Amino acid sequence: MSDCIFCKIANGEIPSDFIYEDEKVVAFNDLNPQAPVHFLVIPKKHYASLNDIDSKETFADIFSAIPKITAKLGIKDYRTIVNTGESAGQTVFHIHVHVMAGRKFNGLAG
Ligand code: 5GP
Ligand code: ZN
Repeated sequence: MSDCIFCKIANGEIPSDFIYEDEKVVAFNDLNPQAPVHFLVIPKKHYASLNDIDSKETFADIFSAIPKITAKLGIKDYRTIVNTGESAGQTVFHIHVHVMAGRKFNGLAG
């Protein structure tokens, strides 16, 4: 999608340091990290949210990349979050999985 910031990151229109890339997904550090490690994993193909994903393979592409990345970073414990919809906190409408680590997380709120 031409006006989607994460499409622009994924296709290189906005230069970014990818911490991981394969044929289907890329991962890059969050601009406003909420933990010492905080990166986002996105499919290269545009899906506005979890509600729009139309193939099981896409879930597999995204989630199977995560342990590869965390292993590469030497991270054992991490939190994954997917916000779906504005009132759930989604601000960028290209699906992304937040992966956070490096601090203690207490329950769902923090
Ligand atoms: P959401 O609130 O949609 O779940 O998460 C969007 C995330 O994208 C936020 O944590 C925000 O900091 C991050 N973000 C927004 N714009 C950019 C950007 O241009 N570059 C990067 N690296 N992260 C971004
Ligand atoms: Zn997009």
